[in-house]
Amino acid sequence: MDLKFADAAKATDDERAAVDGLLGPPETGWEGGTDRTEEDLHWARGGAAARERRDLLLPALHAVNDRVGWLSEGALDYICRRLTVPPAEAYGVATFYSLFSVKPRPAKVLHVCTDLACAARGGSMALADGVGPDVSVQPSPCLGLCERAPAALLLQAGVPSRGSASDQVPYATAVMAPATAEAVASAARAPADAPDEAPAETAVPQAGQPGLTLLGRIGVVDPTDLDDYRANGGYAALRRAFAIGPAAVIREVTDAGLLGRGGAAFPTGRKWQATASQPDHPHYLVCNADESEPGTFKDRVLMEGDPYALIEAMTIAGYAIGAHQGYLYLRGEYPRALARLAEAIGQARARGLLGDDVLGQGYAFDIEIRRGAGAYICGEETAIFNSIEGYRGEPRTKPPFPVEKGLFGKPTAVNNVETLVNVLPILNGRAEETKLFCLSGNVARPGVYELPFGATLRELIELAGPPRTVRAVLLGGAAGSFVRPDELDIPLTFEGTREAGTTLGSGVVLVLDDTVELPRILLRIAEFFRDESCGQCVPCRVGTVRQEEALHRIQDRTGAAAAADIALLREVGQAMRDASICGLGQTAWNAVESAIDRLGAYE
Ligand code: SF4
Repeated sequence: MDLKFADAAKATDDERAAVDGLLGPPETGWEGGTDRTEEDLHWARGGAAARERRDLLLPALHAVNDRVGWLSEGALDYICRRLTVPPAEAYGVATFYSLFSVKPRPAKVLHVCTDLACAARGGSMALADGVGPDVSVQPSPCLGLCERAPAALLLQAGVPSRGSASDQVPYATAVMAPATAEAVASAARAPADAPDEAPAETAVPQAGQPGLTLLGRIGVVDPTDLDDYRANGGYAALRRAFAIGPAAVIREVTDAGLLGRGGAAFPTGRKWQATASQPDHPHYLVCNADESEPGTFKDRVLMEGDPYALIEAMTIAGYAIGAHQGYLYLRGEYPRALARLAEAIGQARARGLLGDDVLGQGYAFDIEIRRGAGAYICGEETAIFNSIEGYRGEPRTKPPFPVEKGLFGKPTAVNNVETLVNVLPILNGRAEETKLFCLSGNVARPGVYELPFGATLRELIELAGPPRTVRAVLLGGAAGSFVRPDELDIPLTFEGTREAGTTLGSGVVLVLDDTVELPRILLRIAEFFRDESCGQCVPCRVGTVRQEEALHRIQDRTGAAAAADIALLREVGQAMRDASICGLGQTAWNAVESAIDRLGAYE
């Protein structure tokens, strides 16, 4: 695409309608209005007026993609005029995300998961063999449906997005999990109107058991019913927060020792205190619901099965840090979570639980959902800011840290879904801290499990039904590391796993039996990082490619040649770890290194 407006390419009526549905009708001829007078052709938003609308770029791209299925030059041109965004930048954003295409494609797009948990359960592109030419098929990183692997997701354009930037809901989707070639072929022939019907509790083997804290309402409470949520303890924590005040909320969260559950394990109370104490205003809260670590699906289960809990927890967090606006940045591949949360936010607004006067306490707080569009790196806290602001989702260098300069350059607390939901039992006087784990791979009962900190890896796997022979366990996902079968007595705590030379990460526990082709799993991990690197810094951009190349070569090599490749892998891995600017590059070699050193891969 040329780096100027595509004068020859005009948006179609459908494309214009999709954008206008989001932004309203154009106000001037410059913006594409048909009422072109000489005067208004020379009028365009600039400076602050243009910058204020830049964050609508991603929702506008979604609107066209939902309606038409791809982003033409004409559509991009129209969006650029409406938002005063340079075309080159809009093109850079559109091509950053895997759910968008700037080339024509059919209205139906089938995403077949080829990632770790699905590969361990027979998932492959062969699932799409019976699909006709009217469906575009693309391999997908983890779809977050690992408990029912292998999985595929069909998205169908043609249904206008509903609502504003905050609650666009594309509802033409079909989820196939577990997927068979026959089910995929048949779903591809029909209109994609079969959203995921499996109740959230099917992902929770412990559902209904006493003693669950974070999963206690899943399968017990109707996730679409606010009254049911309130009848089961909902909004007691928010009432208590208002009763004790923001400083006491932060103190209780700090005293409880709550650590972030997104992988970094940063103390939540410290983060809130640092944000709350910033003199610059406004403050923002961002909920990181871009759960993309392969093998992770706990946040999806929480959002689908107990959406009001997240909304209540975000309100408490916003109150504590002095924010009046929260953004919920949600994975683009989670259509049911999107629908549930959009509905729940609407209900909460209607009942005075969000809005100008929450619970009649004089505190204003509201939540906007922002949909991701298929980019693992947008789970990095500063990449989220860029994505919401309408730029490529590339991480920022730190410092400044988000608590000082985050979203829109203002003090921002970013918390993961599981972290936030933990705040409710803390304020309600919980006795024991628990952790969610995502069990997948070769176990009899895959799903999300809740256990107190300190249970061992062996106890967890026993709950899920281990295979006859465990070959290895991947802890923490693609950014984590493998452990051997004789290491299963590792205590599942942040310190315990660290001392054992591994990580709890986001709670992924992928169990592999003795049929696993380890080199194939390692190649998939390397391919994943090469694909998901944002390319911004050289060690990661080049290193992830070199890592994948070496792993391809090593499969056919033995002796000195294989040793040379392993030496190269170590060198490249160390460079990525030392010199990449964000966690993706810094951890891209972890799993491969652990497979070589702990499992003796390639020996
Ligand atoms: Fe991008 Fe990789 Fe650098 Fe992170 S480490 S900023 S993903 S290139």
